[in-house]
Amino acid sequence: MTEQEEQLRAALRPSEELLLLTETDIERSGHFGRRWLAVTSERVLTFSDDQLNAEPESELRLGDVRTVETEHLVGQGALQAETNGRRVEIVRFSNSLNERFGKVARGLNDAVKKEKRPEFDLQDEEPRQCPKCGRLLPEKGSFCPACLEKWEVLRRFWHYVRPHWVKAAVVSVCMVVSVALGLAPPYLTKVLVDDVFRGEGGRRLLVVVILALIGVRVLGAGLSILQGRLTAWVSSGIVHEVRFEVYQAIQRLSLRRHDKAQTGGLLARLTHDTMMLNFMIIEAFVWFLPMALQVAGICIVLFMLSWWLALLVLIPIPAVMGLTYWFYKRLSRLYHHLWQTRSKMSAVAGDSISGIRVVKAFSQEPREVDRFRGRSAALYASTATAEGTWATGRPIISFLTACGGIGVWYFGGLAVLEGGKNVTLGELMAFVGYLFMFYGPVEMLTHFTDLMNQAVTSMQRLFEITDADQEVYEAPDALALKDPAGRFDFEDVHFGYVKDRPVLKGLELHVEPGEMIGLVGRSGVGKTTMTNLICRFYDVDEGAIKLDGVDLRKVRLRDLRRHVGIVPQESYLFNGTIAENIAYGKPGATREEVVEAAIAANAHGFIVRLPDGYDTKVGERGARLSGGEKQRVAIARAILHDPKVLILDEATSSVDTETEELIQQALQRLVKGRTTFAIAHRLSTLRNASRLLVIDDGKVSEIGTHDELMAQKGAYSRLVEMQSRLSAIKAVDG
Ligand code: ADP
Ligand code: MG
Repeated sequence: MTEQEEQLRAALRPSEELLLLTETDIERSGHFGRRWLAVTSERVLTFSDDQLNAEPESELRLGDVRTVETEHLVGQGALQAETNGRRVEIVRFSNSLNERFGKVARGLNDAVKKEKRPEFDLQDEEPRQCPKCGRLLPEKGSFCPACLEKWEVLRRFWHYVRPHWVKAAVVSVCMVVSVALGLAPPYLTKVLVDDVFRGEGGRRLLVVVILALIGVRVLGAGLSILQGRLTAWVSSGIVHEVRFEVYQAIQRLSLRRHDKAQTGGLLARLTHDTMMLNFMIIEAFVWFLPMALQVAGICIVLFMLSWWLALLVLIPIPAVMGLTYWFYKRLSRLYHHLWQTRSKMSAVAGDSISGIRVVKAFSQEPREVDRFRGRSAALYASTATAEGTWATGRPIISFLTACGGIGVWYFGGLAVLEGGKNVTLGELMAFVGYLFMFYGPVEMLTHFTDLMNQAVTSMQRLFEITDADQEVYEAPDALALKDPAGRFDFEDVHFGYVKDRPVLKGLELHVEPGEMIGLVGRSGVGKTTMTNLICRFYDVDEGAIKLDGVDLRKVRLRDLRRHVGIVPQESYLFNGTIAENIAYGKPGATREEVVEAAIAANAHGFIVRLPDGYDTKVGERGARLSGGEKQRVAIARAILHDPKVLILDEATSSVDTETEELIQQALQRLVKGRTTFAIAHRLSTLRNASRLLVIDDGKVSEIGTHDELMAQKGAYSRLVEMQSRLSAIKAVDG
């Protein structure tokens, strides 16, 4: 029993039994932080820190809970419960804990439905804690923000800055000079007051001072333009390089990683994190460093002008810094929350707008509007809070800043009245001038650490992608695959997408070159999975798949993909013309080749009837084509690719009979001379297969020709009979 469990058990009611105690990594505000969720035989409790014998932060009676569900927000999830008509959030969790809280929700729902006590099975979970400090990691296999070695990250970042060192040096020089120039005006004020107005020859000196002021301002403006422009160039250049590397890494990333990282997450890294990086560099060079220099410079000047007034100035500084720090911390939490609510709102709107057909078909517009109103209202509330805090904090900090100035006026003024021995009027005025250039930056510097933290985290998230090991990688001595015959051997293949949930459990299959194997089996049995393994989108866990006797893991990936073609279940068309889509795998293809492939795919007919023929834009994901048309474009793509091994994954499942006939003809042309793996829902479409393979429970359950399997009277013959009976019914109906 852990310490926490002990604490909690001691605090429970005597009749109450602890059923689950689990940790989460996000606070209610949406920030990283440790919290606890406990389910007992009577209640659902949450605790905000490690004191589990204290008052729970929230409490729900199990009897009040109607349903529990997890909701996916951007970057995190929430466990929510519906109690008598009210919806409450129980806890937040990061994506790494999706699975865990999914199970928690399932356990609770089961309990409510069957009116039994909740049961949770959280056993088969990978541990996702930081090996150093034991905190939960924000994402599976990710880094721990607390243990992140910031200097290490910055050192790596320096690697990107180095090529730009000349420009960076110019920027630095500009910066130092323009900060120094910026210090001049208050000093000139002193000269103005003490020397020009008092001394002899004031007129001439006045002109000199004014000219100096103009000079300083003009030069300062020029330098700051130069500095800003150079910084913009350098930072965008650096960010461009980082972004490019990240994108390359995303393209290389194994499919297993892609399955885990939602597309949105990767896109966010590519856009948001790189933007943060750019922002940070610009902030650092245009604001932070000059301000730090300015603060240091002013400090020196103040002490030179009058050390005792300078000491006076320093008095409100701890208060200003402390308050600013606290204020920004609170503010950033509020803004974080605001972003959360905003992304929640977008998620709802996006979901319902993309599904607008379904919404309309079921007349659910009012419900969708209601859902949106709720989200929009939440955003309204959090915007008002955040902006309100901002509006309160700023004036208070400004006031404190002004206090220092007032003190200086008072004590300095006294000194001036006493005859100006300790400080002259000019010095006092210069002093106050410097003061106003001093507190502002001090305030900003406090805020900078926050920005820096965010930037370093963003940087680390980017490096994480570029560092991601390629699970499906190529051996250094990988074999070139010139002209494979197309013999395939599956030897005791074991595979599962996730640990402990195997899909294939020892599959054996030997395929001769040019054979067409029909894959048959219940949906979800692993047919598509087999084809994924043939393409080596994933690697087998145990056993081996061999092409012409060579283990796929020893073949050059590029060559393997060159010789394997797929017509997938749902063909993905890119937003471009039809011709471009057909030639996707062979970018240099001539128009003749494209047309030839289209003719062989029975696609030429419909293509030439389109307004722009082969140059018709297909729209996003090929939205402007019907399912059957898309499928034939995909077949043409495969024909042009001319692979030795062909995979047809339910290529005709989503089309009408007539189109199916056209596609069948096209496929018959396509399979000639190639080793083919065909998956079909309708068994009649596998009539050309040389052998049929029935998969069950991750293994081969039957294999043979159609006639052999029919004679065996096993699973296959039952399936055939069922389907022919069904089609007979359809025929009668029709
Ligand atoms: P089918 O025989 O219908 O083509 P699949 O090979 O697509 O079946 O799927 C086999 C099993 O693997 C299913 O239980 C499915 O839920 C699971 N599965 C498929 N793809 C993934 C994936 N990318 N990540 C996790 N599980 C998956
Ligand atoms: Mg499938």
